[in-house]
Amino acid sequence: MRDAAAIAAARLAASLSRLTRMGGGTTLPGRIATVISPGLVAGLSSRLARGVVLISGTNGKTTTARSLAGILEAAGLAVVHNRAGANLLSGIATALARGATLRGRMRGEVGLFEVDEATLPAAVEATRPCVVVLLNLFRDQLDRYGEIDLIAERWRRALAALPSESTLVYNADDPMVADLCRDHAGPVRAFGLEEAPHGEGRALEHAADARYCYRCGRPYEYTLVTLGHMGHYRCPGCGAARATPQVCAREVRLRGADGSSATLVADGSAIPVSTVLPGLYNVYDVTAAAAAALALGIAPATVASGIAATAPAFGRGERVDLGGCEALMLLAKNPAGFNEVLRTVLLAEASPVVLIAINDLIADGRDISWLWDVDFEMLRDSARAVVVTGLRAEDMALRLKYAGLSAERVSVEHEGDTALDRARRLLREGERLYILPTYTAMLHLRATLTRRGAVRGFWKE
Ligand SMILES: [Zn+2]
Repeated sequence: MRDAAAIAAARLAASLSRLTRMGGGTTLPGRIATVISPGLVAGLSSRLARGVVLISGTNGKTTTARSLAGILEAAGLAVVHNRAGANLLSGIATALARGATLRGRMRGEVGLFEVDEATLPAAVEATRPCVVVLLNLFRDQLDRYGEIDLIAERWRRALAALPSESTLVYNADDPMVADLCRDHAGPVRAFGLEEAPHGEGRALEHAADARYCYRCGRPYEYTLVTLGHMGHYRCPGCGAARATPQVCAREVRLRGADGSSATLVADGSAIPVSTVLPGLYNVYDVTAAAAAALALGIAPATVASGIAATAPAFGRGERVDLGGCEALMLLAKNPAGFNEVLRTVLLAEASPVVLIAINDLIADGRDISWLWDVDFEMLRDSARAVVVTGLRAEDMALRLKYAGLSAERVSVEHEGDTALDRARRLLREGERLYILPTYTAMLHLRATLTRRGAVRGFWKE
């Protein structure tokens, strides 16, 4: 009775928020529903025949969830998914209520939820997942959560509460994540990259967050650095080292803005995967999605076809029509992610025109000092022009000045509309614009582009 009332109320709230255009209606319905029925998430989760998958980590949650959804759908499974990226418990409740009939029967077989790092313990407790995917831990939004160690501690608690029959899918290349996962009593399926273009002998960037051994405090030694602090590491003090993962990406090829490919080796079979998603971080995301799918018993051939069919999530490698030119939107929300995005842009184009949009709202992190940890020096000898916009456009312009970009190559436009127009005018025939926004700046630019008819509204995603 109570669940039926909660689901009905959630439906009503969702239709009202669509009608009044108050936003996507991805969190409020769930919040209302769980007030009416506090046990709703647990109840509906337990009715999903193939169980629940939770995905968490600083970078790549949305893309990994989307890739896994693509694979599961290719396998003929109906997925209940918090697709719009509302990744707190309210967003999970909204997705579950939407996927249920009024009698509380689920219309999907498997639940797939991306979960905010800090919400993981509560989500584990409420959904009793059969698979948990842990992607990485990077310094992000410091002022919102305090130290990265606080998140690690929450994850440790979450994993201790995990049912022992649950499969833990984790990133073997992230020393902090791997350390957290070593005590799980149940099945594990680690994933990682066996190689990375230019990764051998590469020095850690100063954006790297976890350079010291969690067991003894000595700095790790790396034979391969893939991304930020991730790679093939070993502690010279206590010998703690990356273990060879069960799902390995080999033959990793990056094709600039046009995507990437790799061969995933797992369970003795080789799975060729190719994706339109650009950049090394997306190779991690599809490898994680494949590892989770294999843990759910999906056939390797279905994994490959599901990944190939996956379109980018909004703002993450999404292509936008700017009236005769293409723009590529690459969300960049922390130093390690931003560096990889810059590398992707420079791999695609020798002298690109770039639009950088920096906000400092809560979802972006209020403290923008992290901009000084991004290697914008990469743009010094290459970027033809950079347009900066967003609430902290001036700070960004200052950062570029210190990165060595001459003033005539950098322009500040406070309005998203005028920034897009200026960047558009700077493009030569056939050139592509690279838009690098923080999270809320991405939502804002996307709303502008939606108004112009260049992209779809995101409640339709
Ligand atoms: Zn050590």
